[in-house]
Amino acid sequence: ESAALSRIGLAGLAVMGQNLALNIAEKGFPISVYNRTASKVDETAARAAEEGALPLSGHYSPREFVLSIARPRSVVILVKAGSPVDQTIAALSEHLEPGDAIVDGGNEWYENTERRAREAEARGLLYLGMGVSGGEEGARRGPSLMPGGSHQAYLNIQDILTRVAAQVDDGPCVTYVGPGGAGNFVKMVHNGIEYGDMQLISEAYDVLRTVGGLSNQELADIFAEWNSGELESFLIEITADIFRVKDDHGEGELVDKILDKTGMKGTGKWTVQQAAELSVAAPTIAASLDCRYLSGLKEERESAARILDEAGIGLESMGSSRKVDRKRLIDDVRQALYASKVCSYAQGMNLLRAKSEEKGWDLNLGELARIWKGGCIIRARFLDRIKKAYGRNRGLANLIVDPEFAAEMVQRQGAWRRVVGLAIEAGISTPGMCASLAYFDTYRRARLPANLVQAQRDLFGAHTYERVDRPGSFHTEWTKLA
Ligand code: NAP
Repeated sequence: ESAALSRIGLAGLAVMGQNLALNIAEKGFPISVYNRTASKVDETAARAAEEGALPLSGHYSPREFVLSIARPRSVVILVKAGSPVDQTIAALSEHLEPGDAIVDGGNEWYENTERRAREAEARGLLYLGMGVSGGEEGARRGPSLMPGGSHQAYLNIQDILTRVAAQVDDGPCVTYVGPGGAGNFVKMVHNGIEYGDMQLISEAYDVLRTVGGLSNQELADIFAEWNSGELESFLIEITADIFRVKDDHGEGELVDKILDKTGMKGTGKWTVQQAAELSVAAPTIAASLDCRYLSGLKEERESAARILDEAGIGLESMGSSRKVDRKRLIDDVRQALYASKVCSYAQGMNLLRAKSEEKGWDLNLGELARIWKGGCIIRARFLDRIKKAYGRNRGLANLIVDPEFAAEMVQRQGAWRRVVGLAIEAGISTPGMCASLAYFDTYRRARLPANLVQAQRDLFGAHTYERVDRPGSFHTEWTKLA
């Protein structure tokens, strides 16, 4: 009888669940699937039949679904994050038995995972919070998987995860991330980094288009060319493709017809909130988030443009009237983008390290860079370099000071400053590139004007200060001396 039982179960058959279930079945692991709304069960079963008689069985009741899985059971949940996860767990856990494991694959807030893990533990159940990246295509063909929580729950499905994940030159894009909510936290920071990458790419586009006067066709060619060098990545590749797509409702390319208002679902905001909580500077990621907020103020921006134009600002025309050496601009923007990206990853990695220290997760940053090399939205050639940097020095304080990255940053800083300078002069905002450059310039300086801030704090609030030349804490009656 047990031969007929499935190896694993998956509940929640929207975009992600359906595709991940088919991926698992395709790798030869018999899988049971369930969804609150029955039509999605039928849809998934039909796809499994069409895509090659994959070993997938559909179930309509939580009980029948759970009982169809071999013990100890592993049940992956891929429903909307938040209370739908609690409701799904409630429906399933009635039928689960001690030793069984729940694996939440959604973009969940890590503290929800830690709460659910405690509740599960009280019932003898194991719990894993597993970040899944790569969207629809990743789920179906091979995602990057970031499982954290019960190590036993991970071991129970390690063989499946290893086969299902994206495969790159140094192995499958999955690793046991750490205990508690570590998997969800890492996925959250991955998404924050993704915000940064997308913002920086959009700034490169804006400078090339507005200052350099490049056409969509030229932009497509340049991004395609960049994708064969140090910037090689999924996001650069799809950007090249986007510029080529014609608008089927009119003249020109579709990209020019898209409303300039960015949507978001919350993981970027959580990343910035966590950075603030942990006192970690993440200005590039924060700038990306701020830009999404400002992009949402479309009507206000249109009105501001009108008011300031009438006031005679006319910066847009300054930008395009300036003569630029296009070839040099293109090369400079490539370097500015790369250097800005390194700073953004440095921020994300340091946020992960700070959280790891706070929670005792023992995150392996090099290993995280490795599992992001394939299957996820931020996959990029240069993640291999990050992996190697942490391989050289696991305690590396900042990516910028790794000898290889340091040399690259120094080589690129001239181009980087030229691009930011040109953009500022032309009135083209490049908040991500500026934030990265300011991060670099702040971090690399042995002495900052923070001495003056300390003096002010001591003057008005007697907050005391330390001295550069002797130990101890000092207070001065400033006004009496002045
Ligand atoms: P989704 O749109 O976030 O959620 C839809 C699924 O949730 C459906 O199966 C739906 O069931 C179920 N659901 C909603 N409320 C429910 C409730 N109260 N009780 C039981 N089930 C409920 O689906 P998704 O886009 O596939 O994403 C799933 C998870 O993966 C999310 O956490 C998402 O953030 C994450 N994720 C998504 C992507 C992506 O590219 N889409 C990428 C990475 C991670 P019904 O059919 O019955 O309504």
